[in-house]
Amino acid sequence: MDENCLFCRIVSGEIEAKKVHEDALSVAFEDINPVAPVHILIIPRKHIATIDDIGPDDTELIGHLFQVARNIARDKGLSESGYRLVINCKADAGQLVFHVHLHLTGGRGFTWPPG
Ligand code: 5GP
Ligand code: ZN
Repeated sequence: MDENCLFCRIVSGEIEAKKVHEDALSVAFEDINPVAPVHILIIPRKHIATIDDIGPDDTELIGHLFQVARNIARDKGLSESGYRLVINCKADAGQLVFHVHLHLTGGRGFTWPPG
């Protein structure tokens, strides 16, 4: 737990969020500023600042986040239409919160390449 980290404080319950899933390893909640009809953030309970900080012991944890994202997408009815998973890493990608999070977005079409 990093006291100065917004998402650690959401994990601990100190800051409120609309949680849609919780388990021993992860928490998922609605993005406060959604960019699509479905926009959910899936995060590890463990504080990991960026993708560059993922260690060899985190392999199972990171795989778990993808399975949670897939399950939420299914629950939201996105399995047929599709959805997008995004992880921003550092400045050029526009990372604002330095606690690894998977953006699950869906419910509309997206363009490629991203902006
Ligand atoms: P990043 O740019 O770091 O990949 O994405 C951070 C995301 O966190 C943004 O989509 C932003 O809307 C979301 N966010 C920032 N602060 C809060 C908050 O206090 N609560 C929730 N639920 N989402 C937040
Ligand atoms: Zn954190």
